[in-house]
Amino acid sequence: MAHPMNDTLNCYLAEAFEFLDIDAEQAFLLSLPNREVRCELPLRRRDGSLRVFQGYRVQHNRSRGPFKGGLRFHPDMDLAHAQVLASLMTWKTALADLPLGGAKGGINCDPHDLTLTEREALTKKFVRQIACLIGPDTDIPAPDIGTDERVMAWIYDAYSGDFGDEPAVVTGKPLELGGSPGRTQATGRGVARLTEWAAQRHGIDLAGARVAVQGFGNVGRYLCESLARQGARIVAIGSSGTTLYNGDGLPVSRMLEQAEAAENHLALTDMDVRAEQLAVDAVLTGDVDILLPAAVECVITEQNAADIRARLVVEGANMPVTAEADRLLRERDIPVVPDILANAGGVIVSYFEWVQNRQRMGWTEEQVSDALDRHLARAWKAVSRCGAEAKLSYRQAAYAVAVRRVDRAMRLRGF
Ligand code: NAD
Repeated sequence: MAHPMNDTLNCYLAEAFEFLDIDAEQAFLLSLPNREVRCELPLRRRDGSLRVFQGYRVQHNRSRGPFKGGLRFHPDMDLAHAQVLASLMTWKTALADLPLGGAKGGINCDPHDLTLTEREALTKKFVRQIACLIGPDTDIPAPDIGTDERVMAWIYDAYSGDFGDEPAVVTGKPLELGGSPGRTQATGRGVARLTEWAAQRHGIDLAGARVAVQGFGNVGRYLCESLARQGARIVAIGSSGTTLYNGDGLPVSRMLEQAEAAENHLALTDMDVRAEQLAVDAVLTGDVDILLPAAVECVITEQNAADIRARLVVEGANMPVTAEADRLLRERDIPVVPDILANAGGVIVSYFEWVQNRQRMGWTEEQVSDALDRHLARAWKAVSRCGAEAKLSYRQAAYAVAVRRVDRAMRLRGF
């Protein structure tokens, strides 16, 4: 069964196909995944019981280069979910003009419910199942929700055991194992960069702007840090358990220190910070200048789109706004910077990591940060130009640019 996110994605793609005058057959090919895999992963638990998990990998499109995309460890992970997220990766890598395609995968497990040893065993079992499908020239996984650099190190190890030392098979590795400086912070910092440019375009002064961020994970954390450094007041931060609110601005760097000290296992509710605790959804509807949903998908829907009070929305998460809500926000003249543009920083630095691994040579953090800015600025310029010329929203323009590039690559390669 298709995932509800599928309707939203199909809506965005249909608009792009129509705008680009792409015929139905080609549109069908552009929409379909190239290959999908589901595998059984039996795991003997510490208490002796046997639990069977499912692993997934969907390879969506490789017209512009090897498949690329994250691995998610989450109880809700399934094939339909992976299909939508893999397709998003195809458009994201194309918009960033990387020589890569799109993929996504994961395991339907709750990583917090597994011991470290169990997590390692499950990851390595999964790699054994998909080893013939991944590789530095075929498909390069990366972290996503529920996975981190430690999981990437296990993937590197398991793959290299069979195929010889190959750090470029996976990105998001620890620095000691060929990871790139700046990869952990890249997505959040990239979202902050896009926020800065969009705010400037729409007459919002970032210094002193009131900002709400949903999510204080890998993306939300460094996004908050970057914006706070530019003088923004982060008045609300939301998680799955609460919304922390302080009208004078939350002490972001102190919260970041606490999260890092607890190896990212500290809930917002347990943080030592002076703030009111509000309902989970309050982070979305507060009186702010900029709203950054950077947690999970489909949180802004037709049910709450009318309650959004922000003057600008920037998508840190993948698909946090449904197509219907996107239309309602457009009618209210609230600009939305879409995920495939705003959160592309992660895959861009993943690409840099892959390049460094292949060259067997490391870059400095400054080189990574300068190159990231250049890539993001190019994508922002391409979207802005297309949007201005054809009177399209940021999202419509982003899909138009990305789909045009993939369509062109497919036609040039032939069928
Ligand atoms: P994470 O697991 O590190 O953090 C997720 C955050 O979301 C946590 O703060 C959690 O409390 C919060 N959350 C979970 N469920 C929630 C709910 N129902 N309501 C409100 N908050 C909730 O994940 P992440 O890596 O920060 O990824 C966040 C989003 O960004 C995802 O959509 C992911 O696909 C996307 N993304 C991540 C990267 C990356 O490099 N990490 C890159 C591109 C896109």
